[in-house]
Parts: sequence; C-alpha cells; structure tokens
Amino acid sequence: QNKTLNDLTFKIAKRVNFNNMHAIYGFNASTNIAHLYVPVVQEADILLPQTEEFGGPKQVVVPVGVDQDPHLRLTRDIAAKLNEEYGFLAPASTYHRFLTGLTGDKMSSSKPNTAIYLNETPKQAEKKVKSSKTGGRETLDEQKELGGRPDECVIYEMLVYHLVDDDKELEKIREECMNGELLCGHCKVHAAELMKDFFEDLKVKQEESVEIAESLFD
Ligand code: SF4
Repeated sequence: QNKTLNDLTFKIAKRVNFNNMHAIYGFNASTNIAHLYVPVVQEADILLPQTEEFGGPKQVVVPVGVDQDPHLRLTRDIAAKLNEEYGFLAPASTYHRFLTGLTGDKMSSSKPNTAIYLNETPKQAEKKVKSSKTGGRETLDEQKELGGRPDECVIYEMLVYHLVDDDKELEKIREECMNGELLCGHCKVHAAELMKDFFEDLKVKQEESVEIAESLFD
C-alpha cells in the first residue's frame, strides 16, 4: 500500500509545477519543499482508493472542511491528467462546518481539553462539558442585564448539533439566554446531564455492536 501511495505521489508531483502551487496555495520562493509536498501527498491519498489495489476506478466522495477545497480542485485536475493511465474519475466532495473546540479554539485530536472522545466515560464527558467555554458575560449582573451570546457559546453549539432535537426547545434556550433569563451555570448542568445520558446510551450500543461483530466471526 505504501509503495502504491509513494508511486502515485511521485506521478502526481511530476504533473504539478511551481506556478500551479503559487496560483492555488500562494506558495512563494521562501516556501520550504516539505510544505510544497504536503498537497501532493494529500492528492495521492484522495486518489488512492481508485488504484488497482483498492478495486480500480470508482466514484469517490470526500467529506472535507471548506479550507480543503483547493486540494480537491487540484485533485480533480490531476485525475483528468492521469485518466488515461489509471482511469481515475474526478472525485466529488462535500463541505462541512467544523465544531468549535471545547476551549473556544480549534478542536484537535491531539489536545484532549478541546474535544470529547467517544471512548471516554460518561463521567469524563460530563466533566468536559462543565468546563467548556460559554458565551456568558463577566459577571452575573452583566449577564442578567445584557444577556448571553449563544452564537459564541460552545455549550449552545453542543445543544444544537448533538443534544437537543427539538427546534422549539432550542429557540427557547436561545431566547432565554439572550434576554438574560438563563444563566450559564444552569445551562451547563443541563447540557452536561444530556451529554452523560448520550454517552451512557452510546456505551450500551458499543457493547451491543461488539457482540454483533463477534457473532459474525463465530
Ligand atoms: S446561558 Fe447557555 S447558551 Fe447562553 S451563553 Fe450561557 S451557556 Fe451559552
């Protein structure tokens, strides 16, 4: 597999020149070579499933963040250039919004305090929710007077994307937050309980899945 990836990376590198890299990524004379090579490796990664080892050419959909769009555009051009040799089809892509990290910065798998991992316990998940950044004000009085900022709040984002399905309930939380009726302490406890329930349910489902998977090998 590595050899296939290496060969493909080399083939792609031969079809991209510095002008392309400058136009697409803004690279200039001070850009180091490793940096130049990263997009080429990513393009090889995207096309790898269409190589012989992985069943040959096929339609591929790549889910990415918006910032990855240049890689996809370049990959589509490269796929056309390598079509004769490999039969590659241009990969399609879908674009996704990233959730904010628990600290309010970018979420990263290498920074445990920015994310809740699916293998954590319900208690750990609950604790992480409680220590997440909110859109609350400096003081209680200020919050009551000015209201909170749900659009800058990690807790509210969790409620919207993971924990509350009912739009009316979300609207109520948002309204009460913005008019200062709802305070962050209470809101966090509610979100933490919902997250704990979510993880307890997840653990049961994970155990059931393991049983199903094991039964398939019997
Ligand atoms: S009240 Fe809730 S939604 Fe509003 S800022 Fe605080 S934690 Fe966020």
